[in-house]
Amino acid sequence: MASRFQVKEEFKLNYEVPYLSGKGELIGCTIVPVMEEHHGVSISYAMTSPSPSAMENSFPAEGVSSLAATARFILDELEVKPHRTILQLWEHTPHNRLFSVEGRAPVSAERDAVLLILTKTPFIYRYDYDLVLWHQAMHARDRWERRFLSSHPLVEIGEWFDALWHLSIDGRLEAMGKPHYSRLERLEEVRAVLRDTRPAGDHLAEATQLCDDLWGKETTHSRLIEIGLELSLAGVAVGEAGGSSQGLKKT
Ligand SMILES: [Zn+2]
Repeated sequence: MASRFQVKEEFKLNYEVPYLSGKGELIGCTIVPVMEEHHGVSISYAMTSPSPSAMENSFPAEGVSSLAATARFILDELEVKPHRTILQLWEHTPHNRLFSVEGRAPVSAERDAVLLILTKTPFIYRYDYDLVLWHQAMHARDRWERRFLSSHPLVEIGEWFDALWHLSIDGRLEAMGKPHYSRLERLEEVRAVLRDTRPAGDHLAEATQLCDDLWGKETTHSRLIEIGLELSLAGVAVGEAGGSSQGLKKT
């Protein structure tokens, strides 16, 4: 019997926004090794030391199958219907720092593929996968519908950008009655970012204003960059090719 971590295919995703590596290379695509298919979703495993027992421990087939079904269901509900949906599961180990978050959801530049990246952290066990999958699927939908750019998964604009985007995402999930982070949690997240980047100012009032402006409303990549410039949060040049190599912050 073929092992579950045998690569059956390598799928390439191109991105509109490349990642600038620490070595100064511009990386405009990812090659994803596909090992399995469940419910029309391709499964890719990123394991440091793959073995049949490690695979069964970290990614039991039954659990992966239901995860794929949930991902498929959620993307269908959100009317995100790519030719290819890939679920990439990263084993969470102390020395695997490439993705220090619970997830990312890049889409291809051509909008023919969605890649849902989940790293298996204890955090997820506590909240279950639904919360993280709905959250990542909303990021994918905003990129899919071209309100946001198709960026390489390592591109990072800044915590402020994600914090503002989350006001839009979680407010819409709340309105749909889906699992989401609360308005208060996200308000605190924005307030913390403002406190870290703008020492002076009434951070609570500013965060509340941003929450009133963005909570539950569709927004765009360029609108958030605009806000970032207005509030001097945007340390990056507009057009944001590059991003830091410091791993990914909070999703
Ligand atoms: Zn997020």
